[in-house]
Amino acid sequence: MSGPRLSKSTYLTGKQCHLRLWHDFHARDLATPADEALQLVFDTGHEVGELACRRYPGGHLVAHDHKHVPEALEETRRVIDAGAAQALFEAAFEHKHVLVRADVLERLRDGTWRLVEVKSTTKLKDVFVLDVAVQLWVLRGAGLDVREAGVLTLNRDYVYDGVQLDVDALFKLHPVFDEATALLKGIGGEAQKMQAMLTRSEAPAIAPGDHCFTPYNCPYYAHCTRDLAQPDHGITELPRLSGALHADLDEAGIDEIEDIPDSFPLNHLQRVVRSAVRQGRIQVHGNLRNALAAIKPPVRHLDFETFAPAIPRFAGTRPYDAIPFLFSVHTERDDQPPTHADYLHEGDDDPRPTLAKRLLDALGKEGTICVYSNYERRMLRELAAAVPQRAKALAAIEARLFDLLPVVRNCCYHPDFRGSFSIKSVLPALAPGLGYDDLAVADGNLAAALHQRALSNDNVVERQQTFAALRAYCQRDTLATLKLRKALAALARSAA
Ligand code: SF4
Repeated sequence: MSGPRLSKSTYLTGKQCHLRLWHDFHARDLATPADEALQLVFDTGHEVGELACRRYPGGHLVAHDHKHVPEALEETRRVIDAGAAQALFEAAFEHKHVLVRADVLERLRDGTWRLVEVKSTTKLKDVFVLDVAVQLWVLRGAGLDVREAGVLTLNRDYVYDGVQLDVDALFKLHPVFDEATALLKGIGGEAQKMQAMLTRSEAPAIAPGDHCFTPYNCPYYAHCTRDLAQPDHGITELPRLSGALHADLDEAGIDEIEDIPDSFPLNHLQRVVRSAVRQGRIQVHGNLRNALAAIKPPVRHLDFETFAPAIPRFAGTRPYDAIPFLFSVHTERDDQPPTHADYLHEGDDDPRPTLAKRLLDALGKEGTICVYSNYERRMLRELAAAVPQRAKALAAIEARLFDLLPVVRNCCYHPDFRGSFSIKSVLPALAPGLGYDDLAVADGNLAAALHQRALSNDNVVERQQTFAALRAYCQRDTLATLKLRKALAALARSAA
């Protein structure tokens, strides 16, 4: 067999894009490095995989790693032939130069086998079925009689009692044997094509497209698009751009929003966006004064940072429940400089009881509380359920919330929004000079990842540096909504 050895993950990479696979083998340094948040996703996968093994007591782990493939293959064969182990973890098989390590291989009563792929998500995805199919193809090719196959995901319905994880209830097995079997036919031919492609010294000619993000974001996207001319305000900036409209615009050869003819069937907001782009300035298309009329002093601004552990840690939580660990509150009073309060939980116990108390102190009993998006409302409700003794007070807080996002979306559009109403897109356009570029942390996922890392960091100085960076980030979020509210109020006055 010619060509390098493939694995199930390299096969899946090749199914997404041959160029991506070629890069992985020949030019890996062109990839954008994984950030801390992505690294946390990988770590979570390992943690979930190890926990899943507890469902199969007495299972045998084939511990030889990727540098010791012959030993792993030999050990797998030996343990299977011995017949004692009811399950194997990381069992190694090879067929036609494709190597796979099976997360779990379970011996059934009749001596046949069930293949189980463990995933740290809560939903079954199509790509998981292909993942199982590749393994099934190799296992069968290697002579193993596999009669069942499934994907083991986390079970969102499982609620942790705070005492002992029930690993049977924590996971959910999705049988996929029939679907995976239906995919077997094409795998051998596809693997051969990939192996042949990898022997060439020249990269395959593949243009970037939708496949760069499906099923996974490709780390070579920045490299592949480095020389592409980008439209100034491309049609993808149109809010709620349907596939049909996109196709119609493509067919008409229109890349730029400003070139869309007036006769094209755009909705109201899309027409506003086109006007803003053509005129190169903000469009106020709704009644801002009315939209902001409900805001009463003292005006406060609230933002939470949360983490969402795959494996629940606190009583009453489910996989991936969001747990707030940090909040920031800015308060505006008349013409005085704004004041600031925050709380960061620095322990690895449940942050919510202390955080709820500190939150109530920071928000007082009167005035509007501005937020940006529905997320803080959802967090307040979940916090009230988690800390029932504060539920009434938290409900009163919720009743004072005012979401600035619909105000922006329904009343104004600036070409620099570039089709996005996220605070990071809206803020620089409406309140220039305030951004996130000067901060060490500028993203919520990264904030959650860094907080988790800091909790297990024994270096006190580093830990405190991370905590300070997290507080600065959350503080910037509420300063952002404060500046945004003022900018919207000024716009309302000038539009009157
Ligand atoms: S960015 Fe797109 S075209 Fe380039 S390697 Fe990745 S998937 Fe292939």
